[in-house]
Amino acid sequence: MSNPNYGVWRPMAENVEFNALESNSNAVMAVADTVRTTLGPKGLDKLLIDQAMNRHISNDGVTILLSLRAIHPVSRMIVEIAERQEQLVGDGTTTAVVMAAEMIKEGKRLVKELGVHPTKVVEGIEGGVKEACQLLEKEAKKISLNEIALEQVVKTSLSSKLDGKKLSLLVISALRSVGKNALYNGSYDFDKTITVLRRTTMEDRIVNGIVLERKRMDPEMPLEIKDARVMIARLDLKPVKEAWVKENSKYEEILNMENDRVAKSKDIVNSLLATGANAILIASGEVDQVIENLLVANKVFAVRISIEEIEYLSRYTRAKPVRMMDDLKKSDILGKADRIYEDEDNGVIYIDNGSDGSMATMIVSGTTKETSLERWRAAIDGVNAAEAALNKGVVAGGGAAELHVIEKVKNLRLKGLEQVGLDVVTSALESIMRQILTNAGYNGLEKVMAAKASPDTFGIDIDSGDPVDMWKLGVLDPLLVKTMALEAAGEIAKSVLRIDRNLAAEDLSQQALSETRR
Ligand code: ADP
Ligand code: MG
Repeated sequence: MSNPNYGVWRPMAENVEFNALESNSNAVMAVADTVRTTLGPKGLDKLLIDQAMNRHISNDGVTILLSLRAIHPVSRMIVEIAERQEQLVGDGTTTAVVMAAEMIKEGKRLVKELGVHPTKVVEGIEGGVKEACQLLEKEAKKISLNEIALEQVVKTSLSSKLDGKKLSLLVISALRSVGKNALYNGSYDFDKTITVLRRTTMEDRIVNGIVLERKRMDPEMPLEIKDARVMIARLDLKPVKEAWVKENSKYEEILNMENDRVAKSKDIVNSLLATGANAILIASGEVDQVIENLLVANKVFAVRISIEEIEYLSRYTRAKPVRMMDDLKKSDILGKADRIYEDEDNGVIYIDNGSDGSMATMIVSGTTKETSLERWRAAIDGVNAAEAALNKGVVAGGGAAELHVIEKVKNLRLKGLEQVGLDVVTSALESIMRQILTNAGYNGLEKVMAAKASPDTFGIDIDSGDPVDMWKLGVLDPLLVKTMALEAAGEIAKSVLRIDRNLAAEDLSQQALSETRR
């Protein structure tokens, strides 16, 4: 097994016959066990302690997973998949992990106890996941911005979060305040229209407009500009570089350069003012002190911004970024804002376009850095859930949608032994409701049986323990969160079941050493 490029690959355990499936599935279970008790509204929190002994309480799947220093390669895989789920749909990470664990558990049973070849199981998983996703798609209902269902999706998604009720109201009002302005080519993209800021010193609120976590360039600039004519400047605002001055030793030359600097700065400021701008958002590198002083003298409101902020500020104010002096002569460079002002107490700047509700900023508070971070993440999750729901529709929550497609998945006819691979998928579909209810203190299995015997949209009311229509209860999940979680779980399970041996590269220097010894 020697490979000149990669060194020697050695089994990870001392015994060559060590069972990789056993070891890998144990690793998956270990990871899943740390997050499964957080699933659902009655899930418990985890206390995380970092290396610096900072405490942090979390209920968020990804946060918990990322805090584990998972060294087993398969555990790392789970963490990566959860992260991807978070990035793509922003929710459903615990769901994905719980389903993956269930699939691997069941898959392992088929392989070990019934002697089914892993490739057959893998094909069964593939077929089953595809079928389940299609069935869930058929179940899904489209919803629109003003329906109560949208509020219910957001509430469901935030039900397990710290302060979830309050946050969901905040999220909903942000969604409604930007409304159809968030539509791009027929689908909603709230990333472009809602910014979520966390500020420990401020109250929760929605601001119609943009909030910059910045201060004016100079405290002597005006605090407020009404009917602002906005310029976004990417111009070079340092006409004479200090480095040039230092290279010149003669006093006269230095004086000349200094005069030149003042003259050039004046020219620049005059050209800026000639456009009529009274508020300048500056994304240039350095700004000459002379220029800054002249802006102060002319009562201009100037604030530094980053290159990344240009795009949305330009979209909001309709100002076109100015890169060269020649651009200043163009007629369409300035944008508008009804009001720009600095809240000195909180160190933020508001840019308001009055009636134009095209952008909103959600300010999320938190008494400590940790709670504000957790609430901030939750708020973003809520926005993502709403986006997914509006774009692709919703299904009954609480694991009900998954549970009720099981019988139909079982009807799928695959050739030969692949058929048993379907069991892997149906177990996973059942595991979500079971876990949510177990976490709520019920006998999960018993409750799942009761729900199964009820009509298709029925799950279990987590407070009473009785079967109820999840649509009537208002427990709804975005379809996309469910299908993505199912696909992600399938991916993990397939990879884990396919591995028959874990090999680790031996250190190359070790190899060299043993070769010289020989
Ligand atoms: P995830 O990280 O997978 O999003 P959560 O802890 O957020 O995990 O739990 C999500 C699950 O909890 C979803 O299946 C959702 O339908 C379910 N859920 C939320 N609220 C309720 C409720 N009131 N009753 C039953 N299930 C609920
Ligand atoms: Mg969630």
